[in-house]
This record gives sequence, C-alpha cells and structure tokens, in this order.
Amino acid sequence: MADLHTLANHLRRIDGRGYKAYKDIAGGYHTAGLSLFVDHVQGDPFAAPSRVRVRIPMSAAGIPPHHHATKIRRTALEDFLLRQVHHAILRIAEGHRGSGKSGLVTVDVGGPEVLERTGVLVQRDWVEVRLQAGLPAAGRRVLGRQAEDMLCREIPEIATRGLCWHHLNATEARSFVDCCENQAFIRERLGSRNLVAFIADGAILPRESGASSRPMLNAVPFRSPESLRVSFDLPNPWQGASRIITGMGIPRGVTLIVGGGYHGKSTVLQALQHGVYTHVPGDGREYVVTDPAAVKIRAEDGRSVAGVDIHAFISGLPNGMDTARFTTGDASGSTSQAANIAEAVEAGATTLLVDEDTSATNFMMRDARMQALIEKSSEPITPFIDCVRDLYLRHDVSTVLVLGGCGDYIDVADLVIMMKTYVPFDVTREAREVARRIPSLRTPETPPSTEWIHPRVPLRTTLDPSRGRREVKIDARGRHHILFGTEDIDLQSVEQIVDPSQTRAIGFALNLARSRYMQDDPSVPELLDRLDTHFETRGLDELAPHLRPESHPGNFARPRRFEIAAALNRVRGIKVSL
Ligand code: ADP
Ligand code: MG
Repeated sequence: MADLHTLANHLRRIDGRGYKAYKDIAGGYHTAGLSLFVDHVQGDPFAAPSRVRVRIPMSAAGIPPHHHATKIRRTALEDFLLRQVHHAILRIAEGHRGSGKSGLVTVDVGGPEVLERTGVLVQRDWVEVRLQAGLPAAGRRVLGRQAEDMLCREIPEIATRGLCWHHLNATEARSFVDCCENQAFIRERLGSRNLVAFIADGAILPRESGASSRPMLNAVPFRSPESLRVSFDLPNPWQGASRIITGMGIPRGVTLIVGGGYHGKSTVLQALQHGVYTHVPGDGREYVVTDPAAVKIRAEDGRSVAGVDIHAFISGLPNGMDTARFTTGDASGSTSQAANIAEAVEAGATTLLVDEDTSATNFMMRDARMQALIEKSSEPITPFIDCVRDLYLRHDVSTVLVLGGCGDYIDVADLVIMMKTYVPFDVTREAREVARRIPSLRTPETPPSTEWIHPRVPLRTTLDPSRGRREVKIDARGRHHILFGTEDIDLQSVEQIVDPSQTRAIGFALNLARSRYMQDDPSVPELLDRLDTHFETRGLDELAPHLRPESHPGNFARPRRFEIAAALNRVRGIKVSL
C-alpha cells in the first residue's frame, strides 16, 4: 500500500487540471495508525460523491472487546460510532470548497432507530467507517490543495475522533450499547412470556410533530394499568440504577385499544409499529418493544396484487374474479387490506397492528342493519371482525386493533384497553358488561374456509432490474420509492420502513434474490428465509454486486423480511404461481 504522502503529493500535482485527473487517486494509502481507501472517484463535481473508507486497527482504536462481544452489542456499537463520526463531521469538516458537492463529507447516519448498517464496521482486528466525499473543484478544475487537506488531514481526523476510544465518552458509549442490549433482551423474551409487546412505565410515546421523530416535550409519560403490569430483569441497569423494568405487557390474542378521539390511541399503535426496532437512549420509545414479526396492516387502494389468496375475506366478486388468486393492478380499499393481511401472514407475521383510521370500513365491519339489508349471497366480504379470532386460534396470529367507532369488536376481543387522556386502563370487564347489556344483533359470519395461506412462487423472470442498456438499474428515492429497472415500486403505505437506507437495501435485496436465490423457484417465505440467512451470515456488504468487493456505498441499513416482501408484492409486473 502506498503512503498517504504519495496521495498528498499527487493531489498537489494535479491542482488546476481537469476533473478527470482525480481518477488516478483510487486505491489504498497508509499512514500512522490508519489506512485510507479511495474506492470510487466521482466523474464530475455534480455526480454522486466519491466513496472513501478509513480503517483503523483495533490496537489503535482501543475499543474494549466487551462492547462488541455479541452480534447485538456490535450492531449497537457500530451505530454509536457512526453517530460519533457524524458529530465529528459537523465539528471538523469545512464543508463547501468549490462547485457542486465539492468538499462535502457525509456518513449514512440513521434516525432514532438503531439498525444494522454498513456505515461503520467493527471487526476483531479493525474498525472502519465508510464516507461519501465530494472531491473539490472550481468549475471542473481540480482543487488539489483543498483535496489534499480534505483527504489527508480532515477525513483521517474525523475518523480518528469518531472511532478511537480515547476520543469518545466511555460512559455514553456503554449506556448506549447496554440500552440496545436490554431492548433486544426484552424482544427475545416476549414470546415465552406470551406477549406481543411491552411498553415501559415512563415511556414517551408521542412525537414532537407529525413530521418529526423527536419525542414530544411535556408529554404524559406512559403508565401501565396494574392488571397488565409485567416486569423484566434486564442484563444491564437502565436509567442508571435498577435492572428491573416494569410496564404494560400486551398478551397474545385479540386486543382492542379503544377510547375517545384524540386520547392517544393511534400514538400507542405507532409506537408499537416502531417497537420492532431498537431505539437510541433518550428517544422515549426505547423501551417500547414489539414482537419482531409484527406488521402494520392498512387499506391501500390502488396497489397492485399478484395472485394472493384472499378468499377467506372476499369471495364471489360480481365480475367472477377468482379471489383464491386475486390479481389486480388497482385494488380497492377492502381487497388491498385483505391482500396486505394474506401477504403478511405468508411472510411469517405473528402479530397484526390495525388502526381503524387507516382501514376500509367495509372490510372491518358489517353491522346488523347492513346484514339485514344486503343478503350474504350478494356480499363478497366476510368482515375482519369474523376472521380475527380464527387468525389467532388457527394460525396463532395475534391482532392489536385501534378502535373508536365500532363496539361490536368487543365480542371477539380477549382484552380491551382504554386510552383516557393518554393513560391506558384495562376495561375488559366493563366492555364485556356493556356487550351483555347491549347485544350487537349482528350474525357472526363464517369465513368460507380458513386454510388459506398458500405460499406463492414468484416467477424470477418477471423480476427484471434492467433498464435500457443497463443490466441492473436500482435506486431508492427517499423512503417510499424504489426504482427497479423500469418499475417504480410504491412503498408509501408500507409504514414500517423507517430509513431510506433500508429502502435502498430492499431494492438491492430484490436483485440479490433474483440473481442468487430464485433459480429453483422458492416460495415467498422460502426466499425470505434465504435472504435472512444471507444477511445473518454475510451482512449487507454484498448487496451491491456491481461494485468491486471491498468497495460499496456504505449506505445500506437492514430491512426486515416483511418490508422486503412488501416491495416484492408491489412490483407491478411480477407474476406468481401457486
Ligand atoms: P387518537 O388516535 O386517540 O385520536 P392520537 O394518538 O392521534 O389520538 O393523539 C392525539 C394527539 O395527542 C396527538 O397530537 C398526539 O401527539 C397527542 N398525544 C398522544 N399521546 C400523548 C401523550 N402521552 N402526551 C401528550 N400528548 C399526546
Ligand atoms: Mg387515531
């Protein structure tokens, strides 16, 4: 490997030359205590920034092994270090040094969730950060001295400040990693405690605003009702002292969250949706922990559906369409919600999270008067109220349902929680009493058949990432869109994608699936298993195979299998066989 001085000299030499002169700097450079790798050199100052890595041997970084002794702790530590590098950039980096993205240094730091990411990698012998850097230019001329300052001084300093233990706050690092480990500990034990979720006493659920992921100031802290209170004996102390944490456990089964409008129902459900992920200390929801296989279900009219068996919910459509292989380019509210459930269960969901606010009314419910007015034979829909228990009893899929308008659900619920000025109460007994006093008068309907989860086999050739002359063209546009070949995969209603780097990873995961794991026509759940195994054993680094090994964008975050499935299911051109 060349010495970093060689790079410095070279950069000074090409000062004032055309931007293409930068091309030669790709490669690895060594200096005392670290190595710098220039993996990709951008073509011009306005193109996607160049990609640079800094690797520091563990002997120099000095991170205590205890902090990365397990996968969970390592992921937490990597995330912590990435945030420290980000802070170092804000403190140290000079920013703009000319045209386009000249001089800009960034890392792919996340929001309040702690995800497996590719921005920082901690190994036994070294730690590495992957940065994006805009190589400085005036117009299209190389600014050699600025580039030298950026690559040979600034970036090494940023990496050192962000990654080396003696520059970091050890207490903060320890409590970050410990807190993440605590959350994982609870999440792993939910199943054996027969719970789908845990919300700690004192948690702050609401956010500052609809557009912010920061905790609301002066919010009413969460307080568990005594009948639902559970505790966990954590591996690490939380909030400084105790290892015992208490809060509300939501048991498996069918749970209603009821209450007046604006009393905090949807806020609880949103916290549960995000509780499938680990959160940073101070988020307020770090001890809201949900079944990792919980999936938010909502209506999503307009989406495409490929061969999904929704006949348990909907059969006998007036146009004679086969709802055991329901296919459409434009689903209705009720058919989209039915498909979302069938697909979630196919992918392995064990908990469904449903909010009345985002559901199709006719999918959720048909009351006694509608039953009387419209005879069963001319109503294709068996409402969710008549399927929800069956899902639990026969398929072990629990449901948490937010409701304000429809009391008939009390008849099918195991537990009724009422939100009253943001505080939960267990009102199951009162609800039963009301149900006795005021019968719903509706006739329970039987779903046509409940053996309805037939895993589909997606046809590999219908998943095509090519566009024009490019064999693979994949890009993420924010959190909600993936450009996959000529497709625009619309993920606006897939609420549990929390980071655009997950979206990007999903796009490339579909391609990884197609190129490596679909040769023998696996079913959707088999394919998702293979991808999970891939990520578990090989990490996320191979997601962009068109890049050279050892050099990738450093901006992937791990998606769940459910969100990968959601993207696959929304590819408009996809075809499946059963
Ligand atoms: P619902 O679904 O019951 O109508 P929401 O969950 O939408 O109610 O909450 C209504 C409002 O109350 C929102 O603006 C939300 O941010 C706020 N809110 C929710 N929980 C709390 C809380 N614990 N403390 C203070 N405000 C809250
Ligand atoms: Mg609401």
